[in-house]
Amino acid sequence: MGKLFVISGASGVGKSTVLAKVMAKRSDLKFSVSATTRAPRPGEVDGREYYFVTKDKFREMIEDDAFLEYDAHMNNFYGTPKAQLEEKLQTGSVILDIEPNGAFNVRQARNDAILIFIAPPSLQELEDRLRGRGDTSEEQIRVRQARVAWEMEQSKRYDYVVVNDKVATCAGKILEIIAQEAD
Ligand code: ADP
Ligand code: 5GP
Repeated sequence: MGKLFVISGASGVGKSTVLAKVMAKRSDLKFSVSATTRAPRPGEVDGREYYFVTKDKFREMIEDDAFLEYDAHMNNFYGTPKAQLEEKLQTGSVILDIEPNGAFNVRQARNDAILIFIAPPSLQELEDRLRGRGDTSEEQIRVRQARVAWEMEQSKRYDYVVVNDKVATCAGKILEIIAQEAD
């Protein structure tokens, strides 16, 4: 059985970018693909970044007890499919990119989960990155910013906090944590 690594951090902090680098260096790590009711962003592929599902389908999955955890935030549902995660854990360590409520629910379900929080170098830099990505509406940016202070507060309950100043440095620190915890 592999280890479970949970990564959280504000929208736009660079989670996807850093995780892509981490996974490129360690092909043994698997990414847990969540289900979401939000629309795909340009370039996102169904089954790779997320399973993009309707609200009705998501509710059906809740009724079928298909989720290890799920949460409603930023006007959408997000959840970790249980069966897929168990299957991936049989072959190695798995990384989840989920927000703090989900992270704490995972920790409750599996107390050996390792929680890593990615923090921005500054709030201004976070806003610049989110806006610079160019795929999020001003309304969505405001919704996401409203969560930032709360998310930063939750970082105190994580096992590790890593600042994403430079992508390579941040990915390197996460790789060190994984090596220390899983190998
Ligand atoms: P998240 O998955 O946390 O929402 P992304 O990985 O989509 O964030 O990154 C948001 C934007 O910030 C992207 O345009 C990405 O290229 C950029 N970015 C990520 N990490 C860094 C960094 N260390 N320095 C500068 N820009 C970054
Ligand atoms: P985004 O819409 O930017 O991809 O993700 C928004 C937030 O949802 C991020 O904080 C991300 O970590 C979180 N998220 C993604 N998948 C899940 C999930 O399965 N469960 C929970 N609780 N949060 C998730």
